[in-house]
Amino acid sequence: MVAAKCRGAPVHELKKWEADNRGRGQTGQVVQACRGCPVMVECAAYGLEQGPAGMVWAGVPVPEWPYTAYYQRAIDRLEQIADGGWAVDDC
Ligand code: SF4
Repeated sequence: MVAAKCRGAPVHELKKWEADNRGRGQTGQVVQACRGCPVMVECAAYGLEQGPAGMVWAGVPVPEWPYTAYYQRAIDRLEQIADGGWAVDDC
């Protein structure tokens, strides 16, 4: 957490990391916000442990409502990132 890119962000930039349920419309913005973060894999694993709904983890905005294909795609991506098989720069 100490090394997280979002941790040192100025307050006026924190909205970049809020999941807003726009689906794919938000993905590019969040990917840019997380690009280059040194703790991407750890972030994905921690998000999965915590229950990721309604937040951004590892460049993946996770919607609040879990019963959608968009939510399931977000979970699939987090699992791939946590396993080291997918990076935010790959999208
Ligand atoms: S990958 Fe996680 S810790 Fe890093 S900037 Fe994105 S949300 Fe923050």
